[in-house]
Parts: sequence; structure tokens; C-alpha cells
Amino acid sequence: MSDSLLGATILVADDEPGIRGGCRRVLESCGARVEAAASGVEALDHLLSADFDIAIVDLIMPTFGGMELLGRIAEAELPVVPVVITAHVSIDTVVEAMKQGAFDYLAKPFVPAELIVRAERAVAWRRLRQEAQERLLQLDADKSQLHTIVTSLADGVLVVNRDQEVVLSNPAARAALGLEEGQGEPRPVAQAIACDRLRELIAEAAQTPGQVASLSAEVACGERIYMARVVPILTSLGQPLGSATVLRDVTELMSLERAKAQFMSMVTHELKSPLAAVQGYLKVILSGQEIAPGKQQEVLTRCCERVEGMGQLVRDLLDLSRADAVPLRRVEPLPVAEIVAEVIDQNRYFAKPLGVALRTDLAPEGLTVSADRDDLLRMVDNLVSNAIKYNRPGGHVTLTARATGDAVRLSVADTGLGIPQEVLPRLGEEFFRINDPERRGIVGTGLGLALIKRTLATYHGRLEVESTVGEGSTFTLVLPL
Ligand code: ADP
Repeated sequence: MSDSLLGATILVADDEPGIRGGCRRVLESCGARVEAAASGVEALDHLLSADFDIAIVDLIMPTFGGMELLGRIAEAELPVVPVVITAHVSIDTVVEAMKQGAFDYLAKPFVPAELIVRAERAVAWRRLRQEAQERLLQLDADKSQLHTIVTSLADGVLVVNRDQEVVLSNPAARAALGLEEGQGEPRPVAQAIACDRLRELIAEAAQTPGQVASLSAEVACGERIYMARVVPILTSLGQPLGSATVLRDVTELMSLERAKAQFMSMVTHELKSPLAAVQGYLKVILSGQEIAPGKQQEVLTRCCERVEGMGQLVRDLLDLSRADAVPLRRVEPLPVAEIVAEVIDQNRYFAKPLGVALRTDLAPEGLTVSADRDDLLRMVDNLVSNAIKYNRPGGHVTLTARATGDAVRLSVADTGLGIPQEVLPRLGEEFFRINDPERRGIVGTGLGLALIKRTLATYHGRLEVESTVGEGSTFTLVLPL
């Protein structure tokens, strides 16, 4: 005896006790779990309260017969597989029962072997159907999972078939290529993709299937730059099916690279001329040429100045790279009066020979600002030394601190050269210096304000500048509380 009924759940519905009992015995002997019902209503009750693999139902029963029960099973979309028992086998009845959802039929009278064969077939069908359904559900889940992944990818994904038509695109790819969602796929590549380089790359991948694993290139789509990688897709026999393209937006990366290269060339440029000058002076001294005693002093002083300038540049560059290094900061409440006093102290001997007076106007008393001590000292010091450097003899520098509702405003005002309005937006650009006759002799690196801006950015603060040429400038550090 086969064990294909082992564990199967079976309902036997027949109003004849003999049939019910007989079926139960036979089926239970095969390892099935059997329930019995004597009427249509009773059978439906059982079917609605538990899951049965199959139901063997008599067509003629009290309350309602098997045919109606079949209808109810279909209506409730029960997964049970019905087999009908009929005393009067007519082709019409069997066809009708099949139409109503019966899987098989048993003609009365029947022998145990016939019952077992029918029951086994029905149970096998139920299991097959269940498995198929589970697989389909899995497939559906896999498909929707894949769809979700592709849709939510930040990279653009584009699938092209062997006829060079776009058959799939995700939102990122459509945004990159400027395609509307509803434009429908498949669309010819020539229509869907305006970027020449990308079209060429996809065409190239189609012409060289099996020869290359992927093709990559930088492509410009509108304002943005993408790294495109096209992978040819082949069948298991190596026949070309099309290609899949991934588009990664590298616009920011590229502009960062460009800024880095620009920065490096500026640094080299800034170091080149003082180095050449120092080298020139040293060569003159080493050559043993007669130099007038006064001149010799002048040459060495120049050398010293240029070396000091380079030293300042290196210090500023180090500060600039530190400005982004957030983990090195120790943010704490700092008394503004203390910081200002320290900066004034540092600059006193620098201001005096230039005839510039330093003043403070700090209110309210006890005002604090949350920042890293070195950061705050460096920012205020940079502003104060600029205010002294670009001042006039007899001028003054005033440090003012104020608390507004949500920020502390620390201003450094001077009575110096001032800054033309048209260059105000450029202040803070690395190495930006104003080139005019009045400032020719003033030493600087053009990195001070850049450093302040970068540092402020890490505090979500900002630098405000007001200036009138010939009258003076006010630089304000705005630090959110
Ligand atoms: P530098 O090392 O040249 O002083 P900064 O970044 O500190 O570099 O300043 C950039 C330029 O802005 C300076 O070269 C100068 O021309 C101008 N500038 C800065 N502060 C002042 C100021 N208080 N008054 C006039 N000009 C200023």
C-alpha cells in the first residue's frame, strides 16, 4: 500500500452511515485523518472551520446535496479538492459536477481500492496545486522584491534588448536621461537616449558580445556627469540578448577632483615665486660677488620675509585641512571676553608700529559661545590681523560681541582700505587676494578668510561682510547658539 494518503485530511460527506463508516475505515487505514458529515450543512461547517485536502461528497444528501456544496466551496474559494460520489452515473451529472469544481467521481457501489485510487489522485492534485501556488507566490515576491530594489537604487539602471530598444529603466535612469515615466517601453535607444556617448557605448556592447565583460565611460547628460557601465547580456549559449547599463552620478566627485587639482596648482604657484626669490638671493651670496654692506642686510631681510611668508602659507594650509577635521574639535562654552582679550594681546605689538588702536565693545557681560577654543581664537585672530594689516596709520579696530535670539555675533570693524563691492562675493575663495597698489606691500596668503568660512561651516555659522572703499570694513562671525 502506498503512503500517499499519509497525513492527508479528508472529509467524507454521505447520509448513509455505512458509506461514511466504510470510507473512514479504509482511508484511516492508509494513514489519512478523516472527518465525516451526514448532510450538506454539516459538511460545509467542517470545511469552513478546518482545512481539508480533499472532500468526498455524495451528490444526494439532506439539506443540500453535493452539487450545491460544490458551489459553496467555489464561492468561499476553499482550497479543498472535491470528489463526488454518485449512485446514478450519467455523463451529464459527471460533467455538471466537474463544471462545479469536482476533481473526480466515484460511482456507487465502489470497492476500497477504487476509493483509495481516487483519494490518492485527489490528494496528489491538492499537493501539486499547493506547491505550484507557493512557488508562484515566491516568484511574485522575488519579482516585486527585485522591482523594489531596482526602483529604489540611487544609480540609474537601463536594460536594452537585442533590437536596441530600452525595455526597462528605473526612476534614477529616467531622471538622468530626462525621460517621463509614462513614455512607455520598449522605446528605441535612438529615441530614448539623447546622450551620444552613452548610445555609442550601448551600441558597442551590442557589437562585441562575449568579447568584453563590460564597457565603461564618463558620459555627460545635461548638467551632470555619469560613470556609465554597460554589461552585455548573453544567453547560456552565448547568444546576445541585450545589455544592462548602470549610471552613477559622479558630478560632485568630478568637481571635487577638479577643485583639488586647482588647489594643488595654486599652492605650487604660491610657493614657486618666494622659493625662486630666496634661491636667487642665496645664489648671489654664494657666488661671492661683492655686495655693499647695506645691500647684504637688505638681501638677507628679503630672504627672511619670503621664508616667513612660506612658513605662514604652510601654517595656513595646515589650519585649512584641520578646519574639516571635526573629530579633533572640543566644543565647550567659551567666555567671549576672554577670547577677545587673548587675541588683542597677541596683536598689540603688531598694531602698535602701524599706528592702529584696538578697542572692544562687549555686551552683555559673561557672554559665552560654544566652540573649540583653537577654532575661535584662530578665526578672531585672522579677522583682527586683517583689520590691522589693511588699516591706515591712526586708524582703529573695534571688536564687538552681541547676542541675538539664536546666535552670537562677533564683529571686527576697521577704519582701513575697505573692499570694492564687486569682489565681496569672492572673499573666502582659497588664495583670493585683492591686487591693488595700496595692498602691494601687505603680506598674506589669501587663505585666512577661506579658513574662517570652512571652520564656520562646521558650526553651521556664517561670515558677514560690510565694506566701503576708503572707509573701512566690518567682518562678523555669526555663531548659532
Ligand atoms: P590674506 O592673507 O591675503 O589677508 P585673507 O583671506 O585673510 O587673505 O583675505 C583675502 C583678501 O581680502 C585680502 O588679500 C585683502 O585684500 C582682503 N581683506 C581681508 N580683510 C580685509 C580688511 N579688513 N580690509 C580690507 N581688505 C581686506
